[in-house]
Amino acid sequence: MDTDNSVLISGAGIAGPALAFWLARRGFVPTVVERSQAPRIAGHAVDFRGVSREVLRRMDLLPEIERQATHQGDMHYVDARDRSRAVMPANFASGEVEIMRGDLVHILHEATRDRVEYRFGDAIAALDQEADGVAVQFESGESRRFGLVIGADGQHSGVRRLAFGPEQQFLHHLGLYLAVARIPNLLGLHYSGKMFNAPGTILSVYPARQNSEARALFFFHADPLDYDYRDVEAQKRIVADHYEGQGWAVPRILPEMLASEEFYFDSVSQVRMDGWSEGRVALLGDAAFCATPLSGMGSGMAVTGAYVLAQELERAAGDHGAAFARYEARMRPFVGKSQKLAQMATHGYVPTSRLGIGFMHLMNRLVARLPGDMILKPAIEAANSVSLED
Ligand SMILES: Cc1cc2nc3c(=O)[nH]c(=O)nc-3n(C[C@H](O)[C@H](O)[C@H](O)COP(=O)(O)OP(=O)(O)OC[C@H]3O[C@@H](n4cnc5c(N)ncnc54)[C@H](O)[C@@H]3O)c2cc1C
Repeated sequence: MDTDNSVLISGAGIAGPALAFWLARRGFVPTVVERSQAPRIAGHAVDFRGVSREVLRRMDLLPEIERQATHQGDMHYVDARDRSRAVMPANFASGEVEIMRGDLVHILHEATRDRVEYRFGDAIAALDQEADGVAVQFESGESRRFGLVIGADGQHSGVRRLAFGPEQQFLHHLGLYLAVARIPNLLGLHYSGKMFNAPGTILSVYPARQNSEARALFFFHADPLDYDYRDVEAQKRIVADHYEGQGWAVPRILPEMLASEEFYFDSVSQVRMDGWSEGRVALLGDAAFCATPLSGMGSGMAVTGAYVLAQELERAAGDHGAAFARYEARMRPFVGKSQKLAQMATHGYVPTSRLGIGFMHLMNRLVARLPGDMILKPAIEAANSVSLED
């Protein structure tokens, strides 16, 4: 049985601070190490429904999240002349509560910073599992021992690479890339967005933070690209190359994307693994079970997984193997359903021909007439497929 209750968490995104929150409440001593110099606040809106919203309520964070919620309205599919071709109703995409990812990262950091040690600008360089703990070598040169190590360091997890092997084994590219940039609200949008399709690409623009700014959200088809994860300018160029020459407001938006100081770019890929733990190391959030943004569940799974993992670690009273097994057994149905939803959503999400775009608009006009409950049934089922137990 473990006697060392120190836990090193890699990653200060959504999953890492949420786990630190619960571990600190349940008698553990969490430390969070984050590669960036400060919390990374880029990204677009993330939403919560069902059990994950209940987790936020139990964290006493729901009132603040609701205060900062996006209150996003409908999304209009427009053609090159800015005419509305179809509408996606707000409740289809925004969950029960929706907030900008960066605002949530900030709220989680504020809620934990007094009780949790954060090491920004550092990362784990090496892990050595021993009988009663893990010897950790940091990139900064410092060495320390921890009882357990949790990788909550996203889709390209460093902990996963160190403890389980190269990411190519686990990352499954779904054929799309995603970029998000903070831009001025140059279309004058008011709590509703616009989405423009050209064959093989989508560009959506929607207002954020009470219409004072906007987000440009790019999805485009591409086979796995060879690019430097840290070279943001090169990533912006890749995006621009896929949209150059397009109509609608694209020529006004591309320069804003290129100049944006808040930019996120990644492949739309799922992480699928046979097991999420190896000895004293376990994975959480995108590192273990990234479903892609198209599931609408990534942040919900991250906060729910954090709650379940902390609960099982406390219950197991030092038997980390039993805790990791119970955590995984409880989370698997939620993860499996969410990943399946994302695979279905990805298929046909970005039509590659004009005919396909016309068909999608037609389908969306029909779908918008159906009762919301019917369309949302699979998402609601997935979002409630885990029990919080106490
Ligand atoms: C900047 C950013 C923007 C995002 N924008 C979107 C978006 O627009 N739409 C969307 O659906 N999803 C987005 N995501 C992913 C989304 O946050 C996750 O799908 C989900 O919330 C699960 O969160 P997570 O904490 O597991 O992973 P993440 O939110 O990805 O957090 C992982 C954290 O780990 C850090 N990290 C990475 N490698 C290391 C390392 N080796 N050592 C230490 N720290 C490390 C990262 O800097 C990051 O802070 C974004 C992620 C990031 C990091």
